[in-house]
Amino acid sequence: MSRMGDSTLAPEGGSLLAQWVSNIMEETGTIEIMSENNQTEIRNAVIIGSGPAGWTAGIYLSRANLSPLVITGAEIGGQLTTTTDIENFPGFPEGKDGPELMADMEKQAKRYGTEVEYSVVESVDFSKKPFEVKYGDKTVKAHSIIICTGASPRMLGIKGQDTFWGRGVHTCAVCDGGFYRNKVAAVIGGGDSAMEEASYLAQLLEKVYVIHRREEFRASKIMADRVLRNKKIEVLWNSVAEEVTGDTSGKFPKMTGLKIKSTTDDSIREIAADAIFYAIGHIPNSKFLSDDIKKNEEGYVIVNDSQETSVEGVYAAGDIHDHTYRQAITAAGYGCKAALEVERYLGRVGVIG
Ligand code: NAP
Repeated sequence: MSRMGDSTLAPEGGSLLAQWVSNIMEETGTIEIMSENNQTEIRNAVIIGSGPAGWTAGIYLSRANLSPLVITGAEIGGQLTTTTDIENFPGFPEGKDGPELMADMEKQAKRYGTEVEYSVVESVDFSKKPFEVKYGDKTVKAHSIIICTGASPRMLGIKGQDTFWGRGVHTCAVCDGGFYRNKVAAVIGGGDSAMEEASYLAQLLEKVYVIHRREEFRASKIMADRVLRNKKIEVLWNSVAEEVTGDTSGKFPKMTGLKIKSTTDDSIREIAADAIFYAIGHIPNSKFLSDDIKKNEEGYVIVNDSQETSVEGVYAAGDIHDHTYRQAITAAGYGCKAALEVERYLGRVGVIG
């Protein structure tokens, strides 16, 4: 079978004209190849999500001439489009603007024939093969699927959050901590992520607050101890962030402080801070997936060493399964791995020769 699209639905026994039209559409890379009974083409691979994992999978599969379809999701480009400067993606010694990096990845994927639907997947029927992916008012059939829908950082939704988003309010210290060298930041949370973020920031910043709603950390002892020993870190126990304050008179808003409420007596005080980093967990974007796809208690998709999920032919890549590293470069790596495994799978089941 052709790698340019499954020809099993070409009008078998149909008219010569229909066969000719089908051939032309296939040669010109037209997305939908309709048979005489209006059945749509079966895609070799559908990639759900358009972060670094999704675009990398697209680049690899299109370069392998497998004509993948990326269905982007609502946030085209994923979490990185909310980051200003990316300084830790190899190959960009001067750093790279987040939305620009994602736009370049999209361009690169399209250059080799990745097709794109700017739409949101509502559901996937994994119970039959080919799989059926529903998005908008359309359905596409696919021999294989790569789920790259990522995870969204949990937010507090406090006053001032939106005003100072990206200009004081952040969700990733490794990504954005470098903007606050020798300044003061607050990390919200008491889990391993909060400990890791606070320890990382303490290497760069003058002072770091850890603000936790209880008087005991949830984090592992070793990581909590590291924070408690660090002289640059001050823990504010039994406290919750209430409001981000700052100056909005200039061209760009500038965070200057944080109002904090005590969970024991409800008293409010304000600390001077240039940044706040939420580390209160992530929410994997896996709600649209049926129970055919096994997930852990928190909703992260479970994959094996080949990025394959509990359903044969369905793979996952990036933050949708990786709650440990969560970096653009690791997500891209997983996307590459999943794409190579899809290629092997399609060969194994005879979809491609
Ligand atoms: P987590 O363990 O779920 O911790 C979230 C923290 O945020 C908790 O301390 C929680 O407080 C607090 N929190 C949640 N909602 C809040 C709210 N609305 N207001 C204030 N505080 C709130 O999440 P995580 O730290 O991201 O870790 C996720 C998983 O990844 C864990 O299994 C962790 O061990 C793992 N991880 C491992 C490493 C490592 O080993 N290097 C690094 C990072 C993460 P409460 O404690 O009061 O519930």
